[in-house]
Amino acid sequence: MRTWILIFLCAFVTPLISTPESRDLIRITNATRDDVRNIEHSGAWVNYVNRTGVVVEATVNQQRALAEKGYRIEIITPDITGIYERNFQESDGRYLTYAEYCDTMAVIATTNPAICRLETLGLSYRGNLLLMMKISDNPQIDEPEPAVHFEGDIHGDEKIGWAITFELLKYLVRNYSTDTIVTRLVDSREIYLLPMYNPDGYISSSRYNGNSVDLNRNWGWMWGDEISQGASPFSEPENQAVLAHIWRNPAVTFVSYHAGTTFISHPWSYCYSYQNAIPELNLIQFLSARYDHWTHYTYGQGADSMYLINGSTKDFDYGYGMMGWSIEVHLQKTPPASEIDPCFNLNLPAMLELIHLAGKGIHGMVTDVLTGTPVPCQIWVRPADWLSYNSPTVGDFHRFYLPGTYTLTFRAPGYRDTTIENVIVPATGDSAVWLEVRLTPDSTAPLFAYRHIYNSFVNPSSNRTYPVRALGPRDSTAFLLDNGKTICLDMGKPVYNREGSELVIYRSSGTASAQVQGAQSWQGLWVTLGTASAPETYLDIGSAGLDSVRFLRLTASGTFYLDAVEGVNTSGITTDKQRQTDHQPPLRIFPNPARTTAVVYLNPPTQQPATLKLTDPAGRTVQTFTIAGQSRTLSLKGPDGRRLKPGVYFLRLNRQTPVRLVISE
Ligand SMILES: [Zn+2]
Repeated sequence: MRTWILIFLCAFVTPLISTPESRDLIRITNATRDDVRNIEHSGAWVNYVNRTGVVVEATVNQQRALAEKGYRIEIITPDITGIYERNFQESDGRYLTYAEYCDTMAVIATTNPAICRLETLGLSYRGNLLLMMKISDNPQIDEPEPAVHFEGDIHGDEKIGWAITFELLKYLVRNYSTDTIVTRLVDSREIYLLPMYNPDGYISSSRYNGNSVDLNRNWGWMWGDEISQGASPFSEPENQAVLAHIWRNPAVTFVSYHAGTTFISHPWSYCYSYQNAIPELNLIQFLSARYDHWTHYTYGQGADSMYLINGSTKDFDYGYGMMGWSIEVHLQKTPPASEIDPCFNLNLPAMLELIHLAGKGIHGMVTDVLTGTPVPCQIWVRPADWLSYNSPTVGDFHRFYLPGTYTLTFRAPGYRDTTIENVIVPATGDSAVWLEVRLTPDSTAPLFAYRHIYNSFVNPSSNRTYPVRALGPRDSTAFLLDNGKTICLDMGKPVYNREGSELVIYRSSGTASAQVQGAQSWQGLWVTLGTASAPETYLDIGSAGLDSVRFLRLTASGTFYLDAVEGVNTSGITTDKQRQTDHQPPLRIFPNPARTTAVVYLNPPTQQPATLKLTDPAGRTVQTFTIAGQSRTLSLKGPDGRRLKPGVYFLRLNRQTPVRLVISE
């Protein structure tokens, strides 16, 4: 039996946090789901809607404002905030503080290097770490295995979501190599766990991040018309970090845990099912039913059974080809610690089955026929005519499908389309099929919009088109970009300036126009390239003063039927520098601030022993360490062998840029 040891590297002094403003749990008896946005404008947090009304958490002032609007209020539980705070404080260490959590993640990773890889996806608005644990055999390598993603606490006050994601992590680590099911799943999947999506909100017991943004309203699918949605789609660093992670590691299933009610909520959330249901409703219903089989949470389209949401994670997930959910796991957002094990045990078999089911369906590898190197591509599957993406670095793709016959088209900028018909997912055996796909480069094939990043919300009663219909080459299926609305698209590769025009905007119908902007990063700076006002509008990026453009943003005047954007393919001439850049820092330190010990991670690991030098701000060497491989625990001491004085230090690997290390009191 593998003993899993939990040690806290450092006992942090928990800083005194101002207690969050007290809210009561109330029922608004004369409201329906159509009132949710209006109620949210008071600042109240909506938990759920049912026949008895809308159940929300609201402060006294918010209740007064709601009453003035004519809402009738019944108190269910006074000071629910205080109850959650006590549940958190009096949990005998079951709910960890943020600092304890970071330490524990580092310890788990260092004590289980065979199956754990700890990544820092980025920093929160307030500079807290977004820690992601990858659990797989050979965790340092991206293997051609189906990926699954579980996350908790995107709403910071819903701490039970953190708890059960973290429990799953510990369960997998503890039972690997002794439990055959766990061992098989860890060996054959890439399991990504992000227990604390919103550390700012976890620390302050707030739904929002440190910038007062609801991170589950800030994603790019139909963004806008929400309170606390952020300044722009993906404006928040937490969401930018998870988006970049998804682009690197597209997953088959993507589960985001919530609390305040119990429900398995699948896309769409931006519209009701009578307006639009996802094209592969049978797939998401099958998977949801399996989750429901174990938990009895019940399931359905988010907007129908919860309420309308723009800019949610689950809608973006599905728009990117992943099966996404918000799963509401408990009536209380931070229940007593005694509820953690029952809640986790209820979800565990459903979690394991989802991980298992990710191996069914259609899988394979996409490479260049000449060089054998991976080709990032779109994978369009009929009859649903929906797309997903492969791993950009390894080339493997994985998607859950039920037994049946499918037609797949592989589409990559600079390559000829490859269509494979009669792909059969068998009803027997492991119900999976593996395809080796070799794409042929074609220097005459145009570039096209490769992926959707964000678009403004639509009125789903009048506009039932999807932004992904603007992807790919011209095909006369269009996304209707409504008057004043914006879409942001990634061409996948830079379109380089040359003589004449390089970009064509195709409008399949109507007479509307759209302002077109270009940029080298999806976050700008945006430069206006011109106005598309004809069925075909040719644009010259050089005349706008740019050398290259990879991202495009269109804003419509009138309803613009956006069929496609095509770009001149210069991939045979110019190398794609962007793809070769590794944005990960070479050296990471946990925890930071630290007191007497810290763990250092190297990316990539060193084969030869390397020197780590700790210096003070004056540049004086305080300590020298040698490191080989992936990580090392440093025992931090001054030259006199005693504790380091609190303050700022720098840790430097060989001659690379030093990284700041703060020694705390
Ligand atoms: Zn939530």
